[in-house]
Amino acid sequence: MPLQKSLNEKNQELYTSLLKQGFEINFEIDPSVSSWYAQPKFKYVIGAPTDELNHTAMAHELLHIKLEGMGFENSINIYKYFNEKTNEIFDANFVGNLNNSLAHFKMLDDFIQMGYSIDDFLQDTPREYFVKDMIVRLAFLIQDELNHDKVALLKEIILMISTAKLFNLYKIKQDSTTEGVHEDIIIITLKKINENIINELNNLFQEWIDTNTLTNQFFFQKLTDLIESSEFMKT
Ligand SMILES: [Zn+2]
Repeated sequence: MPLQKSLNEKNQELYTSLLKQGFEINFEIDPSVSSWYAQPKFKYVIGAPTDELNHTAMAHELLHIKLEGMGFENSINIYKYFNEKTNEIFDANFVGNLNNSLAHFKMLDDFIQMGYSIDDFLQDTPREYFVKDMIVRLAFLIQDELNHDKVALLKEIILMISTAKLFNLYKIKQDSTTEGVHEDIIIITLKKINENIINELNNLFQEWIDTNTLTNQFFFQKLTDLIESSEFMKT
């Protein structure tokens, strides 16, 4: 423990208070550097239900980490900036789901580049599940509309548009896909609820797909502005 020798009483006090704040601090001797340094080392856990071999699931999770290294903010940070104080739809669960979907749009190219089939990109929501589930979810949406539960309705609409556009992108990125879905099937159906907001949300997601940046906080800001200016929540 040679570096720790420099922890005198005052330093030890500061060090202990940092540990209490949750920092994990490791010490290392590195003869290749010319001076002392402190740098963050990011730590992630990739979890799985079993140790069954799954190359595509591993690639998927590693790409989530790569994206965060390139500036895409994780859900915890996004929730710090956009939460129920910003708009009532932004509960932690919704922010997490939406942020996860936003990441997926930006991971497809790398996944294909690694030689995997786009149909293996998502393990738990294959096309059939989504399409079958759509009917049930639409029924719930209509129920929400009848109950005037606009918050529940809007959250569900946003996630559905996002999913529809992701599966649409499958078709654009890889013709051979069997899991891809044409977004119109879902978008046109949703327009029956409110054409204006569906168009605006559709444009917002399209912009996110087309832009080269990974600044997801701008997406959340634009979504906030869109909701505030929309008549949808007021009627
Ligand atoms: Zn994912």
